[in-house]
Amino acid sequence: MTLFTQTDRSSALFARARTLMPGGVSSPVRAFGKVGGAPFFVAHARGAHLTDVDGRTVSDYVMSWGALMLGHAAPEIVAAITGAAARGTSYGAPCEAEVELAALITRLMPSIEMLRFVNSGTEATLSAIRLARAATGRDMILKFSGNYHGHGDSFLVQAGSGVATLGLPDSPGVPACLAALTLTAPYNDVAAVSAHFDAHGDRIACIIVEPVCGNAGFILPEPAFLPALREIATRHGALLVFDEVMTGFRVARGGAQATFGVTPDLTTLGKVIGGGLPVGAYGGRRDLMERVAPAGPVYQAGTLSGNPLAMGAGLAQLRALLEAEPWKTLEARTRTLVDGIVTAAQEHDLPACGGALGAMGGWFFRTGPVRRYEDARGGDDDLFGRFFHACLRRGVYFPPSPYEALFVSVAHTDDVIDETLAVVRAALAEVAR
Ligand code: PLP
Repeated sequence: MTLFTQTDRSSALFARARTLMPGGVSSPVRAFGKVGGAPFFVAHARGAHLTDVDGRTVSDYVMSWGALMLGHAAPEIVAAITGAAARGTSYGAPCEAEVELAALITRLMPSIEMLRFVNSGTEATLSAIRLARAATGRDMILKFSGNYHGHGDSFLVQAGSGVATLGLPDSPGVPACLAALTLTAPYNDVAAVSAHFDAHGDRIACIIVEPVCGNAGFILPEPAFLPALREIATRHGALLVFDEVMTGFRVARGGAQATFGVTPDLTTLGKVIGGGLPVGAYGGRRDLMERVAPAGPVYQAGTLSGNPLAMGAGLAQLRALLEAEPWKTLEARTRTLVDGIVTAAQEHDLPACGGALGAMGGWFFRTGPVRRYEDARGGDDDLFGRFFHACLRRGVYFPPSPYEALFVSVAHTDDVIDETLAVVRAALAEVAR
């Protein structure tokens, strides 16, 4: 198989990077471990496209893993960042943009009455469960296999995303006594959740869930799933935490909680609220958030939290989204893309299924339905790798793992989607041979 990056500066950089950084990357999935070959190194990006250090340009369906809703180098965001930078890159003191962004987020997601900014989704989720444990006086948490909540110790139990991509067991370095406090259930499996609560109902501090799963591939919640989690958590005095790091302001104006009409106690955010800069946040009911230091005793802090560049970028992205209201249009385009991939695969007698919500979606090379990570693992990973490279060589960059969702932005116009579908058809014709 001819790979996209076997010669050239990207390969040379990758070889050098591997001597300097584990696996040559700053985050595992970027290393192309699941699909083989060497990753390309990006020189610059604009709109829907990335250009690598060898001058090759690809349509990008990773969009900084969901952070970019306006495309790369969106003028509003660049202007916000450069404007903020000229006024100082970090203060370590409060700034007005934090208040503005907090006000905007609480307006868009009414379940968030107060929030705390952090620097990544990982920080948001690990802080949220600390708060849940403190508020309930309980130690256990319940998560779902194939859901990914960042790399906090408590979450590296049957995790999705890079952990699933690399087929890693639960991570060495996580103390067994801590891992024992993380219960897991299959996604969309209410009976398994009920069974955990029957056994440990008075010890579970919270259920944490991706309300739309994007880290085991793209998997929608079944209609009864999220309402059942709400009911079970309430009945047992546990908190419900929606991890909307990926879905927040990507699947809809008010996130997945608005789409599905289920109100969590706490929500974690990241990606979109930072406009491509490192930002996370956790927030929710006022009585819970007022337990966070310095208002309350639950400690959590950050040197760069509320950074003025990051707050400015997030504000610029959210304001532009509110003005454009692009979610329906983007969902239609994402659906066209995913349906096109599935249909073209089936025309070549390749099994495929997929879905979309707002500006994210995905497909699996297997027959549907895929309801949980355990189903996703039944996909044809070899076919995925060959298809991935066949697309990349033709100028389309999909996420380099079947255990990731794909992301579109307002820069992915109908023309970009049409061009991508032409590439998809050619790539499938090649891999089906
Ligand atoms: N939660 C979810 C749902 C995510 O998708 C991710 C990252 O992809 C995280 C948490 C962790 O966020 P970060 O990579 O910013 O630490």
